[in-house]
Amino acid sequence: MTWPLFTVVSQTLLHRLATLLFLSLFSLSVQAQSDYVRQWPDAVQGLVSEVRKTPDATISDLQRTFALTQSDEDKAAVHALLSRAYSALLLHKKAIEHVNLGLELVSPANQPWLYYNLTVAKAEALDTAGEAQQGLTYTQSAIAWAKSTEHFDLLTYALSIQGYIHLALSTTDDALSFFQEGYRLAQEHNTLLKPEDFASMIALVYEYREEWQQAIPYYERAEAYYRETNASLELANTLFGLGKAYFETGQIQKSMVYLRDSANLALEIGDLQGAAYSYAIMANHLINQGKYIDAESFLTEALSIFEAAENPYMQIQALISLAKVEQKKDQFENAMKMLDRADDMADGSAFLTQKIQIGLEKSGLYASFGEYEKAYQLMLILRNLQNDLEREQNSRRLLELRTAFEVEQQEAQNALLKEQNLRQQTQIMNEQSLQKYVVAVAFLLVIICLLLLFLYVNGKRHQRRLELLANEDELTGLLTRRKTLDVVDNQLHLAIRHDDPLAIAVLDLDYFKQINDKFGHQTGDDVLRAFGKLARKTFRSTDILGRIGGEEFLFAFPHTPAVKAESLLKKFAESVRDIPFTIGNNQCRISVSIGLVDASVARTTSELTALADEALYDAKDAGRDRIVRHQPSD
Ligand code: GH3
Ligand code: MG
Ligand code: MG
Repeated sequence: MTWPLFTVVSQTLLHRLATLLFLSLFSLSVQAQSDYVRQWPDAVQGLVSEVRKTPDATISDLQRTFALTQSDEDKAAVHALLSRAYSALLLHKKAIEHVNLGLELVSPANQPWLYYNLTVAKAEALDTAGEAQQGLTYTQSAIAWAKSTEHFDLLTYALSIQGYIHLALSTTDDALSFFQEGYRLAQEHNTLLKPEDFASMIALVYEYREEWQQAIPYYERAEAYYRETNASLELANTLFGLGKAYFETGQIQKSMVYLRDSANLALEIGDLQGAAYSYAIMANHLINQGKYIDAESFLTEALSIFEAAENPYMQIQALISLAKVEQKKDQFENAMKMLDRADDMADGSAFLTQKIQIGLEKSGLYASFGEYEKAYQLMLILRNLQNDLEREQNSRRLLELRTAFEVEQQEAQNALLKEQNLRQQTQIMNEQSLQKYVVAVAFLLVIICLLLLFLYVNGKRHQRRLELLANEDELTGLLTRRKTLDVVDNQLHLAIRHDDPLAIAVLDLDYFKQINDKFGHQTGDDVLRAFGKLARKTFRSTDILGRIGGEEFLFAFPHTPAVKAESLLKKFAESVRDIPFTIGNNQCRISVSIGLVDASVARTTSELTALADEALYDAKDAGRDRIVRHQPSD
């Protein structure tokens, strides 16, 4: 991550939290979205760990599986494993052939996991073929991918090959650090390659540096593990390593035991070259012991194995050793023939070291013939070769540096793109969450408004209901005394202002006390209720009908002269007589006395009610059950 980008990303804590959240979502979605192959197909699942243990048997199993595979991906997977098995047997041509077939079937975009497995297998095959340098870019890109996606099996595999490549390139510090990284990862994660596998690789670096004492404990750790797990090929290689280390530290007897065990085991599992390696060292020991015949037979056997495997490097080594045997037997011509054969094989820049070694052997041979001039000439050529070798090593180092630089640049660029991508995604996500937030707030506001509206409407209704309760007489459903007087007051004002007629009547039920006494209070109430109902039914909704006392009422009739009101009230009074039937008690008799006044005779409600009361008394006095209209005195 570059600094400006970093600053942008870390601008606010909120932003960072959002990024974090996004990253976790992103990784989830990556897992959910990418349905690329990321594990070996079921058919070869069990063979992966066998590739290194018993490559020979695994190859036949893989070939059988291949005949049954349908999809390109499965075929590519089988090719990858076949290539690895052939590499384990040092059969580099077949290894490269299979890996190339596999690579034709997949692409880094669609099947990255398989693709990178194949590229590492290719690097392994190239390394086996003596083209380690070419393998470097393959492993580097695979390591970067496996790290970013945390595919630890692939990562440890790639690290091991990367280490082997550096070992082949003589950059042993790098080799060691890659193997150590693999060792750590193998301890932390349950990978196919175990810490003990990396122990044997670390031992190999020490062996290469000829730090034999350091190599031995690592090899021993690997040996115990491989014996336990019956990993024949690895065990054979480890026994070979131990044999060589003991040989170099002067423990010859022990060394021979290990080398012989290694050779036997290698033969058992069809790793002929493995056996040949042991033979080559054992032969050197036999040469030192003067056992030339035994040495020669081991070397001839080894040479034919290396020839069959098209392993030029080891063929050269075997020929040089054979030349030594011939020399010891004083067979100088034969010795020279062997060295010439070796010389022919050591063609090209990859074999400069061997060419120099052969040259040294040859010049020694010339010197022992007494051909000092030839020996001297050869020494001159060797010096040129030495210079070439140094140049070659320098340019290789340069190339390596340049490749590393380019890879680093590419990685930085990728990281930048990834970063930008993440930022864009985060921004989109922030916008989306803001939108969601706005929608949620708007929704809440609408709910709150609806709630307030409901409360308001309900409150109003409640208020109206309370007002109604306050203004309405419960028993009769008519207006209360206070409300009646208020409304009448208003109507009086209107009537005076508009010179409109208004009639006011006071009504009192006759002998009501007796009704209560005779038929009970309940019947009295029933009568009052029926009276109210009858009044509401009889008169207009604009008329004012109120209960102003126990069985006393005040009715006002707007726009109505007293004469007109009198006839209305008369009809009403007649209906009142029927109340006993309405309440289901035909024993009692109900009548009403009414005092009526025309509003035009006075200016206030109290004056008018007083006049209506006077008329009522007159009605009572006159025998009740009648209407008396107030007569103006003038
Ligand atoms: P009058 O013809 O002279 O008006 O005789 P009255 O008996 O009607 O007159 P009075 O004023 O002596 O009696 C009124 C009675 O009305 C007294 C009371 O018991 C009764 N009363 C008043 N309010 C109610 C009520 O709400 N329910 C019942 N059942 N009776 C009531
Ligand atoms: Mg009364
Ligand atoms: Mg009465």
